[in-house]
Amino acid sequence: MIVYSLHCSNGHRFEGWFASADAYASQRTAGQVACPACDDRAVGKLPSAPYVNTGRGDAVQVPATPVERQDTPVANAMSAMKAFLLAHTEDVGRRFPEVARRMHYGEEPHRGIRGRVTTQEARALEEEGVPALSLPPALALGEDVH
Ligand SMILES: [Zn+2]
Repeated sequence: MIVYSLHCSNGHRFEGWFASADAYASQRTAGQVACPACDDRAVGKLPSAPYVNTGRGDAVQVPATPVERQDTPVANAMSAMKAFLLAHTEDVGRRFPEVARRMHYGEEPHRGIRGRVTTQEARALEEEGVPALSLPPALALGEDVH
């Protein structure tokens, strides 16, 4: 999988997950890439380098960006944390803001969850005081978008 930082014409920023750079290009041309906040199809890539989720073993051409060696203490800690999160959290995907709120207001039992939010949703959760942790790209846990 390859992950791009995308933006829509209304200024929302979000991540898009694609099988390859070609898949992104063809889906975007076909109008299949939509902003999760406003459904705008006029999306573009932010000028940051894509990163790759290696959890699925897909062969992906990685652009010439420095790749951290896999045996450093930081990389080891990251992979240990990733394994822990996968083992101890429930994947609620795009329902994350809804489920996090319900737990915060006592409408659902507390448990570890993981999922995806737009930057707008993350900000709204933070303003409401709903505890949530934003993970760095190295800890992306492999959910599909939507
Ligand atoms: Zn948008």
